[in-house]
Amino acid sequence: MSSFPPPCTGCPARKDAKRFVPPRGPLDAPLCVIGHGPSSQDAYQGTAWFPEAPEGKRMERWLRRCGHQPSRTLFTDIISCWIPKRSKAGKLYDRREPTKAEISWCWSAHLSPLLISWESQPSPSLVPTGCENRRLSTDGGQTKHILAAGTSVTRWFMGVEKGVDKWMGTTNRIELEDLG
Ligand code: SF4
Repeated sequence: MSSFPPPCTGCPARKDAKRFVPPRGPLDAPLCVIGHGPSSQDAYQGTAWFPEAPEGKRMERWLRRCGHQPSRTLFTDIISCWIPKRSKAGKLYDRREPTKAEISWCWSAHLSPLLISWESQPSPSLVPTGCENRRLSTDGGQTKHILAAGTSVTRWFMGVEKGVDKWMGTTNRIELEDLG
């Protein structure tokens, strides 16, 4: 499996993490999809939200139904490594939820620098405003948008430990510098 970049040194996830998985997509994308961690298929293919894996395929289909091009999306995860579960027989499978300490480290090491760089790039295309009773954008694409896909991702961005249901399907303004 691949080596880890220097910012991973000292991360509490290193003892369980099996592979660093880089983000996928353009930095000038108007939308960034953030999942709760790469799957085994993402890890073996070496890319976040691998489009042929079930979750990647489902997300890309959903984005297209919203009229949004997956190619105009930045895909990444709240932690950028595959942390599998381990069976009693020692087989690695699926993935486990990252801890808050692991998310916090990865935020400083990888995700925060990525999002700051992404936020600073102008986006040439607009995000459509209507999608199956949900809204991807409320301002015609003037602001960049993050789609928090998963409980741990929502908790991190909303700064809560539990009770994420009330945030589902909502649009909220966040300041990246307030996180971490
Ligand atoms: S959680 Fe992030 S910082 Fe920690 S090992 Fe994984 S990729 Fe590296």
